[in-house]
Order: sequence, then structure tokens, then C-alpha cells
Amino acid sequence: MSNTATEQQHVSMFEAVLARFDKAAELLNVSPFTREILRNPKRINIVSLPVQMDDGTVKVFQGYRVVHSTVLGPSKGGIRYALDVDLDEVQALSAWMTFKCAIAALPYGGAKGGICVNPRELSTGELERLTRAYTRALSDVFGVDKDIPAPDMGTGKREMAWIVDEFEKVVGHSEPGVVTGKPKTLGGSRGREEATGRGVMIASLEAMKKIGMDKRASTAAVQGFGNVGKNAAKLLAEKGIKVVAVSDHTAAYYNPTGLDLNKISEHVAKNGGVLKGYNLPGVSEISNHELLTLDVDLLVPAATANVINADIAKDIKAKLIVEGANGPTTADADPILHEKGITVVPDVLANGGGVTVSYFEWVQNRLGHYWTTEEVNSKHDESMKLAFQNVWDNAQQFKTTLRIGAYITALKKLDKGIEYRGRF
Ligand code: NAD
Repeated sequence: MSNTATEQQHVSMFEAVLARFDKAAELLNVSPFTREILRNPKRINIVSLPVQMDDGTVKVFQGYRVVHSTVLGPSKGGIRYALDVDLDEVQALSAWMTFKCAIAALPYGGAKGGICVNPRELSTGELERLTRAYTRALSDVFGVDKDIPAPDMGTGKREMAWIVDEFEKVVGHSEPGVVTGKPKTLGGSRGREEATGRGVMIASLEAMKKIGMDKRASTAAVQGFGNVGKNAAKLLAEKGIKVVAVSDHTAAYYNPTGLDLNKISEHVAKNGGVLKGYNLPGVSEISNHELLTLDVDLLVPAATANVINADIAKDIKAKLIVEGANGPTTADADPILHEKGITVVPDVLANGGGVTVSYFEWVQNRLGHYWTTEEVNSKHDESMKLAFQNVWDNAQQFKTTLRIGAYITALKKLDKGIEYRGRF
């Protein structure tokens, strides 16, 4: 990463959420009561997690779970394992979940969790003990009708399986709906793994239709080759968009005639999950900074936060940015992108496919009846298209960006919910 991106780590993410929220609240003229409620997370949990390491020593990790809002239903949000996890980041992500669930019209509030850890440095046994310790420490917070975790950066179905297993041991009965993103044999939904990437693909196609971009003549660069980036890149390519660049934290690769994403995925699978070392004729290695500023039609940041800052925004050439990651654009980059006429489909809309299929998983767990991949995908696509249209309409009506339009879409529902629930 460039120095500029590293410096951006110090920008408060929660302040960046509030800056956008305030703008939408102003335009919509929501009551000071609603503003105050939503500016403050409902419940903040910080836990110390002692874990016996493989060498016999004990290490204590810091874990977080912030429940931002339960106005529209039980809180929902992923769990992140990364070294930069701190309270500010988790608070920001929890607030985004509140808005994301409202935009996707799900009966959920928002939450987020995380552990400050580099999961690549722990053995499988250490990760399992850490995940079980986190679940036990937060077993009074989690619940199928209270707070429902899911995967995020650094976690996946393996961790979700440990969570459901540990939670069920604590409560003493089966409760598959307490966590989503589980393996299918433990009640996971078909389509969940690809869902966030699929939503990014649908959001990209919807935006292209609105702004008159021809998908078959379009090129794309995707930053991040994890759950979101890899699936988004593959699905975009399936729809005829030429994916010319991809990256992860180890390397970025570019081929102006298009990349072979299956070969890249095979390389990643054989190479400890990372891109570094991919080497084929016609493919050149570039920096992550170069990837963000390539002359492409569509840019999909699907890695981490704060990568598109004011400096980088000035150099961006893409006409359309679809935010697969949470918070990839800093608040001060927004007006620069807007002035340049770049359409930005914001995170709270673009990556809502994951939580939408998480909701379907929760519904299926409660029904005890499971849907086919086709059923899941078609319900998902319909829901994403509807959310996109609502955000588009609000942006038009309030003569603002899609980002502020998205916050307005969420705020309309949240404001009503808060009013209906009454003052105290
Ligand atoms: P992941 O851990 O599966 O993959 C993250 C990818 O980003 C990896 O390829 C990693 O190498 C790369 N990366 C990390 N730092 C980078 C950097 N500085 N530069 C370039 N690449 C970098 O995580 P994920 O689940 O794909 O999540 C990615 C983003 O999408 C996060 O912001 C997450 O919050 C968001 N998101 C994920 C989901 C989901 O369902 N997984 C849903 C909504 C939003």
C-alpha cells in the first residue's frame, strides 16, 4: 500500500459515517431525536479473550461487538479478524450495517464485531480457541432474535461453524439461525458465499444501464481477491465485462486484453490464498495505487477501507465505482469524485447482497426448509434491483449523489421506525 493509504488509517471511520449521515439527515430534515439516537451506538461490548497458544503460553486478544441499532429488528453484522480492528472501526461498520439493512429492506438493525488479530499468524487450533472464546464472551449478546453475526474480512464459514457450535453448547439447544454464512451442512444457505460479489455485479449492471454504459464494451479493475473481489470479478466477467486488473494485499496484476480469472483463482488456491507469484505472458505486475487509477470503465474496490482518498480520487479515470468493500472512499474524496462526474454506487447499497442472503439463511433456518440456488439467486437479484431503484430515485428527488441518496433511503425508514416506537 502507498504511504497515503497508510496515513488514511488514522482518519476516524465513525466520523466519516456521521459526516455522510448528517448530510442526509439535513436534506431529509429528520428530527433531532432521530439524529441523536442514530449518532450513538445502542450497546458497545469490549471483551478480553485469553487463548492458550500452541507453544503453551497464554495470549489475551481484544474483541469487540457493537450493536448500533435494533429499531428495525434484531441486529445483524459480520465479524472481522484483522490487526487494524479497533472500536472506531467497529462502530463505523455497525452503523453502516444499520443503513445497509434498511436500504435492502431487511427486518434487521445493525451490528459489527471484530478481533484485533492477524489470522494468518495463528494456527487453526489457535483460531478455533479464539473464536470459541469470543463466542462464549458474547453469548449473552448474540441470539437468533437479538444479534446475529456473519463473516467479514478474515472470517468465513469455518469460523461461523465454530460460533454456532459454541453458542449451542452455551444455550443447550439447537439454534442454527444465531449466525449466518455457515457451511451448508450446518444450515448455511445456497448462494451465500457468492452473494456479496453477486450483489456487486447486479449493482454494477443496474448503474451501467442508468448511465448508458455498454457492459460488453466495458473494462473493470477489482481491488481485493477475497470473498467479495474474487466473486465480483468472476460474475462481472460472466456478464461480458472485461476484467483487466485484480489485486490483493500481496500483488496487483494487469492485462489490457483481459485476465483469465479461473487461472488466477487456481493460482491463489495453490499459493496459500495469495496472488503474489502469478506469472503469465501478457500479464504485468502493477501497484495497488496504479490499479485504482487505471484507465478502465468500472472500478470495484473490494478489499479494505480508506483506499480512495482525496489524492487518489483526483487521478481516478473510471466512470463508475461500485464499492464492494465497506468504506473504501474517504469523506473528503466524495466531492472530488462527484465533480469529476464519476458515479459511485456506495457500499451500503453495493455490498448489501451478502446480508440479503444472510437474511435468507436465517429465514430458512427458522422455517427448517431450504431453497434451491436458483430460488436464492432470483430473490437476491430482485431485492438488489429494488434497493438500487429506491436509492436512485431518492438521489434524483433530492438532487444528490447515490451515497447520500442511499443514506436518505435508510433514514426514511429508520426515522419512521423510531417515531412509531415512541419516545421512551
Ligand atoms: P476477505 O478477507 O475474503 O478478502 C479481502 C481481500 O482484500 C484479500 O484478497 C486481501 O488480500 C485483500 N486486501 C486486504 N488489504 C488490502 C490492501 N491494502 N490492498 C489490496 N488488497 C488488500 O474479505 P472479504 O469478505 O472479501 O471483504 C472485503 C471487503 O468487503 C471488506 O471491506 C468487507 O467488510 C466487505 N464486505 C464483505 C462482505 C462479505 O460477505 N464477505 C459483505 C459486505 C461487505
